[in-house]
Amino acid sequence: MSQAPPPATDDLVALAPDPGTLSERGLRAWTERMAVRSLGETYVVESQSGAHYVVDPTEGSCSCPDARMRGETCKHLRRVALEITTGRVPPPGEHPICRSCGAETGPADEPPVLCSACAIDPGDIVLDRETGDRLVVLRVSPRRADETEIAATGTTVAAHPSNSGYPPGDPVVEVVYASDVARRDDPRRYAFPRARLESADDAAVVV
Ligand SMILES: [Zn+2]
Ligand SMILES: [Zn+2]
Repeated sequence: MSQAPPPATDDLVALAPDPGTLSERGLRAWTERMAVRSLGETYVVESQSGAHYVVDPTEGSCSCPDARMRGETCKHLRRVALEITTGRVPPPGEHPICRSCGAETGPADEPPVLCSACAIDPGDIVLDRETGDRLVVLRVSPRRADETEIAATGTTVAAHPSNSGYPPGDPVVEVVYASDVARRDDPRRYAFPRARLESADDAAVVV
């Protein structure tokens, strides 16, 4: 009987650190739910509690009480460092990039999730590229398709088979079917990756 050779031990790596070796702040930087947005040189971190802090990784500063009062390397600073090294946000000094198409969005006062070409707003009519259905935008979520679970299926938006052709990091857009809006008081909401939706105006030009 033939067996595949065991991998060389040098090839074996862990993708997350051993929790037992982390400080409490280090562990929280890995495990707490936070949203990090690049402002160019600095970053805005939305914490699990809903508070927003500004982190400057070059200066090693954060506007939270833990960093300002106690001088600690807080969980927000650690989280920004993690997100830069894993490529979830650009390094300091590089322009923020569109979460859907990857284009540079240029310096901005507000952290842009989407570039002007990809931006859509609540109330916009869009078309599903897969089916051509007309949809009404309810909101653009700051969360990624691979982080947003569909309650009905237990999988993420990115893992849904019909979404396999779209970027897993795409922001999720909540929509209702235009046909449902007319028929029901409380139309069912659906979550789509941004790139799966095209503006109804663009579609009209193609037709
Ligand atoms: Zn902090
Ligand atoms: Zn874009």
